[in-house]
Amino acid sequence: MQLRDLKRQYEALKTSMDEAILNTVSSGSYILGDAVERLERRLAHYVRAKHCLSCASGTDALRLALMAWDIQEGDAVFVPSFTFFASAEAIVLQGATPIFVDVERESYNIDPADLERKIAQVERGGQSNPRAIMAVDLFGRPADYPLLREIAMEHNLLLLEDGAQGFGGGIGNERNCSFGHIAAVSFFPAKPLGCYGDGGAVFTDNDDWAAKIQSLRIHGKGADKYHNVRIGLNSRLDAVQAAVLQVKMDAFERFEQKRTDAIAQRYTDALKEIVRCPVMPRGTRSAWAQYTIRIPQRDKAMRMLAERGIPTAVYYPVPLHRQPAFAHVGAGMECPVADSLCEEVLSLPIHPYLLQEEQDIVIDAIKTICNKL
Ligand SMILES: *Cc1c(COP(=O)(O)O)cnc(C)c1O
Repeated sequence: MQLRDLKRQYEALKTSMDEAILNTVSSGSYILGDAVERLERRLAHYVRAKHCLSCASGTDALRLALMAWDIQEGDAVFVPSFTFFASAEAIVLQGATPIFVDVERESYNIDPADLERKIAQVERGGQSNPRAIMAVDLFGRPADYPLLREIAMEHNLLLLEDGAQGFGGGIGNERNCSFGHIAAVSFFPAKPLGCYGDGGAVFTDNDDWAAKIQSLRIHGKGADKYHNVRIGLNSRLDAVQAAVLQVKMDAFERFEQKRTDAIAQRYTDALKEIVRCPVMPRGTRSAWAQYTIRIPQRDKAMRMLAERGIPTAVYYPVPLHRQPAFAHVGAGMECPVADSLCEEVLSLPIHPYLLQEEQDIVIDAIKTICNKL
C-alpha cells in the first residue's frame, strides 16, 4: 500500500499516456508552445479564471505572483505557520518578511482572528509595510475566502492563494485556485493534479499581472525575448508535462475526484467516533491532497500502523515559525495551535486507485490501535 500510488495511476492511464508523451517528443516543440497553451486554456476554464500561466514549480508560481506585485524588502506578507516550507520561502526569497499567523484547529487553515491581530501588530509597529495575505488550501481544503476577502479589502492587502494542494476543491460554485487576486498551483507528482516532474501555474483575472508574469517567467522579456525589460526567472512548463497533465486531467474530471471523495467519506463514516476526522462545512469541497486525522499518542500510533504495513506521514512536524531557516525573520511570533497540531496530525493513504480492501485494512488497523492505546 502507498500513501499516494502514482505507479498504479500510470498503469491505469498507460495507453493514452504513452501515446501523448511520444507524440510530444516527436513534435519537436519542448518548452511552452501550443501544447502548453492548450493546457493553460483548459485549466483556466476549469477553475474559471481569466488567465492561467504555467511555470516550473508551485514555488515559482508563488514567487512570480509576489514579483508581479513588486513585493520586496521592507514589505510584510501574512502566511500561516502550519503549511509546507515553500509558502514562506517564496516570501523570504523576495526579501520581504513573512508574518506567521496561527491556524484554525479544525480546518488547519489560516485563522482570520489571529490574522487580524497580526495585521494590527504590524500596522502599529511600523517596521514593515503590510502588503499581502498568503492563504493556503491546506490538504486540499479551501481557506475561509469570504472572510479573508473582507479582511484584505479592509486593510488594503492583496490576497494570494497558495492552492498548491487545492486543485479540484472549492466553495459553492467557486473553485480553488480562483479565490486569490492571484492563485498558485503545483503540479509536483504527488499533488491532486501532478505531472511527471516539477511544474506549476499561476491563475488570475487581472490582465496587467498576467502580462507581467508572462514576461517574468521568460527572463523579464519585453516585446521579444532578446529585449529584456525587467529581471525575471527561467520558469516555464515543458510540453511533455503539459501532455501528461492533459491525460491526467481527463481522468481527474472523469472519475478520480469522485473516487477520492468517496474514500474520504468512507474514512470519515468509519472513524469519526474514534479519531478526529476532517469535517467539511456544507458547500465546501476538499481536493483531498491529504486525509489528515488527529490521533492520541501519534508517534506510537504511526509505528503501530507501519508494523501492519500501513504507510502514513506527518504533514507537518515543525511549524514554520520554528524552522531554523526562518529564525532570523520569525522570532517571537506565537502560533500555539500550529505548535500543537504538529504533535497530533497524521495523514492516511488516500488516492483514486486505493482499493476497497486497502481502505478496510486502514480502517480496521486504526480501530484496533485506538483500542490498545
Ligand atoms: C507543494 C507545495 C508548494 C510548492 O510546490 P512545488 O511545486 O513543490 O514547488 C507550495 N505550497 C504548498 C502548500 C505545497 O504543498
